[in-house]
This record gives sequence, C-alpha cells and structure tokens, in this order.
Amino acid sequence: MEKEINSDIIIVGGGIAGILTAFSLLKYDPSIKLTLIDNQFHAAAWRIAAGIINPVAGKRIVKTANIDLLMSALLDCNAALHYQTGKHYFFSMPIVRVFRDQSEQLSWDKKIQKEDYHAWLSPYSQTLLPIHTPYGAGIIHGGGRLDIIGLIHDIKAWLSTQCTILHNTFHQEISFSSEQTIIMCYGWEMMYNPYWSWLPFAPFKGEVLTVKMPSDFSSTFILNNGTYFLPLTNGTARIGATIEHDALTYTPTQQAREELLSDFTAMTNIIPDVLAHHVGIRPGIEDRYPVIGSHPMHKNIMIVNGLGGRGALYGAFCAQSITDNILHNNPILPEYSVERYYYRFAL
Ligand SMILES: Cc1cc2nc3c(=O)[nH]c(=O)nc-3n(C[C@H](O)[C@H](O)[C@H](O)COP(=O)(O)OP(=O)(O)OC[C@H]3O[C@@H](n4cnc5c(N)ncnc54)[C@H](O)[C@@H]3O)c2cc1C
Repeated sequence: MEKEINSDIIIVGGGIAGILTAFSLLKYDPSIKLTLIDNQFHAAAWRIAAGIINPVAGKRIVKTANIDLLMSALLDCNAALHYQTGKHYFFSMPIVRVFRDQSEQLSWDKKIQKEDYHAWLSPYSQTLLPIHTPYGAGIIHGGGRLDIIGLIHDIKAWLSTQCTILHNTFHQEISFSSEQTIIMCYGWEMMYNPYWSWLPFAPFKGEVLTVKMPSDFSSTFILNNGTYFLPLTNGTARIGATIEHDALTYTPTQQAREELLSDFTAMTNIIPDVLAHHVGIRPGIEDRYPVIGSHPMHKNIMIVNGLGGRGALYGAFCAQSITDNILHNNPILPEYSVERYYYRFAL
C-alpha cells in the first residue's frame, strides 16, 4: 500500500462503522477527499451478523438506552439509501420473546404494565405462531432486521464513485499528517493498535448456523429465547448467536452448534438441517456502549468502535455522531464518547 495517502479523511475499516461513516460524511459534504481502507477479511463480524435489531432485550426485558435516537438514525439512513438505490435495507419484524424461566416472565409482566413500554410490548397468543412456551412469551415491536450485507455492498458501490477505496491491511507505517483526519473503525483487532490499546476492549466470539427449515414451517416473526431464530428467504433461517469471551478464535465448535440447535428445538420441536456454521468476533467495549471521538493527544486520530453485538442498531447513529462532530463540532453523546475513558490514557 502507498505509504502516504493524499486525502482529507482516511477511514480504516469497511464494516458497518466505517462504511456508514464514509456514507454519512460524503452525503453531508461531497467535496471531502476521502480514502477508505479495508482488508476484506472473510470472517469480519459484519459478514457473519444476522442484523437483528431488538429494542427491548436482556433477561430483565429492558428498553435499549437512546432507542428513539438510534432507530431514528437508522431509519434516516435507510431512507437516504432508498432514495439512491430504490431498495430497503431495514425490515420491520415483530420478535416473539420466549421466556426461559419464571423470573423473565415476571420481568415481562412488570414491564408491560409501564406506559413507556406500551408501544414496544404486546401479549403473545398461540394462534399467532404455535410454539413451545412453558414459561410464556410476549411480542416485542419496533425491531426487525437490517440487511447488512446488501447495505454494505450498495454503499460501497456508490463510494467507489465518490472516493478512493484501497483493499489493503492498514499498518502503522502509513503516514498521515496532522492536517488529515484518520478514523479507525476496523473492529476488534483495534485492541492491538498502540493509539487505542488503553481502551477497555472486550471483544467476544459468536457462532451462528444457517439452516434449512422444513417446508411446512413458516414464520414472519423473529423468535428469541436467548438464542435468535431469523427466517430468511428460500426456506432458510439463521440461528444464533453464542457468546464467548475467552476463546477469541475463528474455529467453530460442536458445543456451540449443539447449544444453538437445542435452544431452537426447545421452541419449535424442529431439528433443522444445518447448511453452514459461521464464526465471528464482535468488537465490544467493557461497558457495552460504542466509543466515538478523538484520541486524547491527537485530535485528528479518531475512533468508531465498540458496536459489540448491536452494530445494526448502533451503526447509523455512530456515523451520524462522528460526522456532526467533524463537520460541525457537535459534541458526541457522553455515554458513547471516547472521552469517558480518557482517565485510562494516563494510567
Ligand atoms: C456471530 C455474530 C452475530 C451477530 N449478530 C448481530 C445481529 O444480529 N445484530 C447486530 O446488530 N449485530 C450483530 N453482530 C455484531 C455486528 O456484526 C458488529 O456489531 C459489527 O459488525 C461491528 O462493525 P464494525 O464495522 O465495527 O466491525 P467489523 O464488522 O469487524 O468490520 C471491520 C472491518 O475492518 C476490516 N479490517 C479489519 N482489520 C483491518 C486492518 N488492519 N486494515 C484494514 N481493514 C481492516 C475488516 O475486513 C472489516 O471489513 C453479530 C456479530 C457476530 C460475530
């Protein structure tokens, strides 16, 4: 790769974070000279992700913080892209939340009474989808699926007419001046980047299955009992994903495959044919929120990372935030700003 890159802004990483940031910047200001560097890693998290967006998640059935802001950024991005390509990338789908035990059922019963959950939760009935729900179930609204692969493919096609795209691995010898802005968004391996290694990265491995469903099973719902089931086209579906913090390898395991199939079979009594087994590593941060903003000593070196297991939901908002910060000097939301970790830089 060229050692010097002659651009105003260099973005490293062509995943959800990098591609949406490039799209957002060039939409606001087409005159920016931008270079995107991506090494096309075949198992990058965005290639493995199902793209499920669940606004009310976790054992305690909690509405995601800032969900209105996050969804609004996502829908704006979808609309901007739709204007350009005629396609939609976000597909609204209800999620059937199948409780794993009585405590989840109790949490649900409390939340569904609350006014600020009314738009998001409604009761489940067996007539909607006859599945096995020993502790009950409920329906979550407002979520769905983002077609991450289609979105990245189509934005990249547009970017190739608007900026320079280099298919290379970024390394430290690349020189950039203090006049240039470099935005690093290349996923979990940024924990090894000396500019950012002081951040509390907490990447986690995930495994998912692509399965063939029996022809008599159809669902317009996403199912979730801790494991997700996402119906796709042609009778296929995704089942996932496991969470593993210790073994950060790209090796698929028999244990994960059995765990995923057993969770799915518990809901549906179906043992599907496994067509593929994928592994990826999510770029997580200790407090599970994104990190966006400038390096404490080098304001022109920036980061968008920490999208964790929710890149589909966080991506558009993070891209919009960093764009507003660079172009209009707007502050980043404190809970997503990298500044919350500045105290660690001196340690
Ligand atoms: C199994 C699994 C299931 C998931 N399911 C969902 C889901 O249903 N919903 C959801 O919202 N999220 C899901 N995620 C999480 C989602 O994939 C991530 O949040 C998202 O991909 C993070 O985007 P990113 O751009 O920060 O990083 P990445 O997706 O990791 O992309 C990084 C990019 O940088 C490139 N790159 C890496 N190193 C370099 C380098 N040195 N030089 C140049 N380029 C480089 C890579 O090729 C890649 O294109 C899942 C993740 C996994 C692993």
